[in-house]
Amino acid sequence: MTKVFKFGGVSVANAAGIQNVAHILSTQADNNTIVVISAMGKNTNALERLTRAYLSGQDTTPEFTTLAQLHLRTAQELFGANENAMAKVEALLDELQTKLQTEASENPDYEYDQIVSFGELLSTTICSLYFNHANLPCTWIDARLLIRTNNTFREGQVDWAISEKKIRTLLEQPRQGFLLTQGFLGGTAEGATTTLGREGSDYSAAIFAYAANAESVTIWKDVAGLLNADPKVFEHTVKLNTISYAEATELAFYGASVIHPKTLKPLQNKGIPLYVKSFLHPEDEGSIIGNFHHHQDVPSYILKRNQVLISVSPKDFSFMQEHQLSTLFSLFARFGIKINLMQSSALSFSVCGEDYFHKLPQLIKALQNDFVVRYNEHMELLTIRHYVHTSTGRELVGNRPVFMEQRNRITWQMVMEEENSSK
Ligand code: ASP
Ligand code: MG
Repeated sequence: MTKVFKFGGVSVANAAGIQNVAHILSTQADNNTIVVISAMGKNTNALERLTRAYLSGQDTTPEFTTLAQLHLRTAQELFGANENAMAKVEALLDELQTKLQTEASENPDYEYDQIVSFGELLSTTICSLYFNHANLPCTWIDARLLIRTNNTFREGQVDWAISEKKIRTLLEQPRQGFLLTQGFLGGTAEGATTTLGREGSDYSAAIFAYAANAESVTIWKDVAGLLNADPKVFEHTVKLNTISYAEATELAFYGASVIHPKTLKPLQNKGIPLYVKSFLHPEDEGSIIGNFHHHQDVPSYILKRNQVLISVSPKDFSFMQEHQLSTLFSLFARFGIKINLMQSSALSFSVCGEDYFHKLPQLIKALQNDFVVRYNEHMELLTIRHYVHTSTGRELVGNRPVFMEQRNRITWQMVMEEENSSK
């Protein structure tokens, strides 16, 4: 039966990382494994900067050069002696450079996907060349021809029926070694490249697993598994050993950065377990997300930074009622605000969310037609699942004023101004 492995950017950030991945695959992968890989390190951020420079007509050379050098250096370290292989990496970089020299279309989101997708194309090309070079046979597959999406660029919506059919057909064909493909990428019926939303490689892994009726998905991380808090932010974290799909979805949605929130539903629908394991200690147990009905008896703390808090009230002092709310929600959807928390009163409505597409100024302008608007940027949302002592949350907040708060039996959420120091 098929197994799906996903390796994120951190695991393939440099030549040593890619060698470590090769080591894991040499002991754990077979011909029925599908390996999904993200862009190396933080290259998606670099490609986003490159896209911004391209779209605003600035010089793209410095950003491009850094990106090209990093990939060439890595390839050189891994298989420099092999000219044929080096030529393939150079050809991809040439393709990107040619793209940057052509004039942009009218659609910035389309342009974003055409450029940012090079991160995954480069990383998987380098990895597959290296794996084959290191006697670890694999077949490079173009995810853009398998994961069919609509043309909502930057957040392609998956056509499950077509994608499933294409992936199944592929799996029936003979191949050499395991399959290696890109996370995060899809393609439209017209053949344009799309992306599935930032950090979307986990989701890609789930799409492949769903289509292949896989026995499991493993996400290889730089942490021991799914923890009850981000160890970069909180001290004293605890590993969650078994987690239900629903609980993991809630944690992912509120910002536990270990898993992309869209990943779990397709797996849950087919009862496919998701393992989260450490690529540094591949023998260790990790966490399992699956059909569990009990949750571990520890609270989870999730901090989501970069939030914006928006409060609006009708200009005419009418009540905040259904028709105003429907205007509001269509504006939030139009400008891509991802809402995490909301609260209403007779005369006002507040949301805390993420300005995913950086369209806040346009949103505020549009809201001001009908509403008095107040907003705060650089906020953070603290979510505590299964809180026990009311004091724990307060300690994390410190002296900062809480701008918005909500609590039910399971979840306690607070919105504060961002604090740079860790707790
Ligand atoms: N490379 C993409 C990103 O950084 C997708 C992923 O890593 O999951 O957003
Ligand atoms: Mg990533």
